[in-house]
Amino acid sequence: MSSADSQSQSPSLSSTSTPPQSGSDFLPSNTLVNRFKNFYRMATGSMSPEGQKAYWDDSDERYSDFDCKRCETWRDDLLRTSPVIRYMNDNIRKLGGDIGPHNIRCRTCKEGMLAGFDRQYGIKVCANWVQSKSMMEDVVAHEMVHAYDHLRFKTDLDSDLRHAACSEIRASNLSGECRWANEFFRNKILSFTNHHQDCVRRRVIRSVMARPNCKDEAHADKVVNEVWDSCFRDTRPFDEIYR
Ligand SMILES: [Zn+2]
Repeated sequence: MSSADSQSQSPSLSSTSTPPQSGSDFLPSNTLVNRFKNFYRMATGSMSPEGQKAYWDDSDERYSDFDCKRCETWRDDLLRTSPVIRYMNDNIRKLGGDIGPHNIRCRTCKEGMLAGFDRQYGIKVCANWVQSKSMMEDVVAHEMVHAYDHLRFKTDLDSDLRHAACSEIRASNLSGECRWANEFFRNKILSFTNHHQDCVRRRVIRSVMARPNCKDEAHADKVVNEVWDSCFRDTRPFDEIYR
């Protein structure tokens, strides 16, 4: 974005009556006065089309900064205070891994995903989709189960669909991401169990289908069925489902 528009140093807010011009009349948004001028021009319809585009790009970027900083604050809090994150972290450390602020990265994601694990890169959290600290706790716990499985079972999540399905079952089962459904059925133990399993299965099928080596839903279904019993029962490093 160019700042060809010569801006007066005076903070007078009445100097916004300059007519729309060609090129970008969007001012760098690093001062409050400029932000106000930009906003005023947008609001009064006197911003050029180029200026309007620059305005929205800039505001996306500033929201993205905000999302990422918030995500980083939550991450650091969770690493210090969340029992499940600390427990997973201790167990990952015992296997020679190391998860921390340096490899849990907060990013703005274009694709509709909450987070991902990559054995080289670490954990990516989509700061623009994760809307609360408790949601982030589930999301990070889920990815930490993948990190744990990668270290513990030396699984190659990328090439072996059965291993990928197994790790998805465990991550979904153990992370608490289905607890919203669970809480709803708190007083009905049978429904509780069934709904938890249904919720885990639905989420697992969806993420297995998203893998490049999965052909279709029938293929995902078949692979998940093959590993379901042993992987759902395998709650390591927990003694049982903790919530
Ligand atoms: Zn997963």
